[in-house]
Amino acid sequence: MSGPKIPFPARKVTRDRAIRELAILEETYPHAVTALEYRSPFELLIAVILSAQCTDARVNLTTPHLFAKYPTPEKLAAANAPDVEGIIKSCGFFRMKTKNIINAARGIVELHGGHVPDEREALESLPGVGRKTASVVLAAAFAEPEFAVDTHVFRVAHRLGLTLGKTPRQVEDDVVKLLAREKIADAHHWLILHGRAICKAPVPLCGQCPVNELCPSFPIVKRYAAGAKSARSRRFAVRQS
Ligand code: SF4
Repeated sequence: MSGPKIPFPARKVTRDRAIRELAILEETYPHAVTALEYRSPFELLIAVILSAQCTDARVNLTTPHLFAKYPTPEKLAAANAPDVEGIIKSCGFFRMKTKNIINAARGIVELHGGHVPDEREALESLPGVGRKTASVVLAAAFAEPEFAVDTHVFRVAHRLGLTLGKTPRQVEDDVVKLLAREKIADAHHWLILHGRAICKAPVPLCGQCPVNELCPSFPIVKRYAAGAKSARSRRFAVRQS
């Protein structure tokens, strides 16, 4: 199926319905953990910076080599940039990421005694660390109730009618209001896993979706599929005439 982008629902679902949608996702994805492999907050932070525009699987293939050579913030802070670039090259944007991870390591050493800070403001002041990266680290390494919004979370939250937010921060605020405090960090994983497996971009697999009876995007996707099919038939008829 191809054609114009499937629009998001124009209205949010009711709070009750949104909570039921999230409960189904929780049941569907009970093992809510990051796919990134790490042994410390330092390794997680570096892995999350490397994961921008890159798959977790690719990062997991790269970080063992990186941490074998630079196992601590002190070692990475003193690293030779071309050497780091050679190790992380396959993660993409490797020059910028090299600069960011070396400078982040320097910040950890110089400002935080070699320990990754467990506060948002301090984390976000490190090079290469924005709100999303800080949220992932706070949630996974420090068990804080933080909800990171990446491209999957943004899309799935919109399709489910949980939000009309234009920015990741607005989406975060809307979804967090629907969740008990102890579920906030896990909910990030429910939406990511659902976005990767079923509610894919550009076209979701609604027929296989456990939430489809509640989801306001299901009828939108059906209409879109029907429109794409009739457009294909019209093109075929023109070619035959
Ligand atoms: S019904 Fe379709 S659009 Fe809605 S959450 Fe499921 S896969 Fe996504």
